[in-house]
Amino acid sequence: MSRIFNFNAGPAALPLEVLQEVQAELLDFAGTGMSILEISHRSPAFEKVLQEAKEDIKDLLDLPDDYGIFFMAGGGSLQFSCVPFNFLTEGKVAAYADTGSFSDKAFQEAEKVGKAVKVFSSKPQGYDRVPRPEEVALPDNCAYLHITGNNTIEGTEYFTYPETGDVPLIADMSSEILSRPFPVEKFSLIYSGAQKNIGPAGTVLVIARKDFVAGRDKNLPVMMNYETMLDKDSLYNTPPVFAIYIVGKVAKWLKKQGGLAAMEAVNRQKAALIYNLLDTYPEFYKGRAAKESRSIMNVTFNLPTKELEAKFVEEGKKRGLGGLKGHRSVGGIRASIYNAMPLEGCEALARFMEDFHQNNK
Ligand SMILES: *Cc1c(COP(=O)(O)O)cnc(C)c1O
Repeated sequence: MSRIFNFNAGPAALPLEVLQEVQAELLDFAGTGMSILEISHRSPAFEKVLQEAKEDIKDLLDLPDDYGIFFMAGGGSLQFSCVPFNFLTEGKVAAYADTGSFSDKAFQEAEKVGKAVKVFSSKPQGYDRVPRPEEVALPDNCAYLHITGNNTIEGTEYFTYPETGDVPLIADMSSEILSRPFPVEKFSLIYSGAQKNIGPAGTVLVIARKDFVAGRDKNLPVMMNYETMLDKDSLYNTPPVFAIYIVGKVAKWLKKQGGLAAMEAVNRQKAALIYNLLDTYPEFYKGRAAKESRSIMNVTFNLPTKELEAKFVEEGKKRGLGGLKGHRSVGGIRASIYNAMPLEGCEALARFMEDFHQNNK
């Protein structure tokens, strides 16, 4: 077996231990004589998987009891629609901080449902940063403020969040959830596609204040109704069983690593190794993100020419460093260094960057 260091942005690397456990259990899950892929979502065996996943995530986040956790399908992209359908009511205005192409997509879905405004945009500067708290001014009758916690494509991340007072704060945390502790009680709803940082494609983790999702429009399409998903405990219909099972395993793995504070320490250490090269050779490795907004999940940069970027990706591959190509919409290089990327992977990338600079400067 030869596994590479996988810098893909999503679907992305999973902890090797988790994959090995899945492999070992695949044919006979928990003594059922069946695979997890073959059992009922209403069986006691899956019920245990679901409840433990929720409990472990609750522990990791130190989540207050007035929040609920549930799993949905449809990816982060369906959440772009669910949010305005649930919360953008008649006479209200939805506020969006536009910090990347996923923010913009979320905004466009809200516009289809009601009145939505961008209260900040770094688009003219190539999405180089997220707003400082004082830069976000909310309109009257504001239904909610939507932010994208980590901008996966552009490589920027919030480390302090806007103050919204009584206005609900909603976040797309698809690419940074469970990578570090954060003040969860500031948020009314958080959604997170699993395939970046906490599992495989196929499910979305939603964390919501119970009173926020309660009592919404009964005529919503049922699969988009957060209250139904919460009340039915993710089991209104057949949920993405296999994906939830793996998210649960990742949550247990995170606890074993020491929880989110321990993850933050190593994630910061990993990111610093790579940003250090950007700071040492700024003419060669041109970081895309403004320093104060630098993501510790996705490091994005350009080289002096497209040819050098292609060569970087190719030579990286030969050194066992995969998935370094930037998103097709922005080009350049992107190293996604989520929870499952070990420190050694970032050390190997930093060594490669040092050599590549030496040989190509
Ligand atoms: C990947 C991503 C999405 C889109 O997720 P899909 O599951 O592909 O719909 C949305 N938001 C962010 C921040 C992402 O990284």
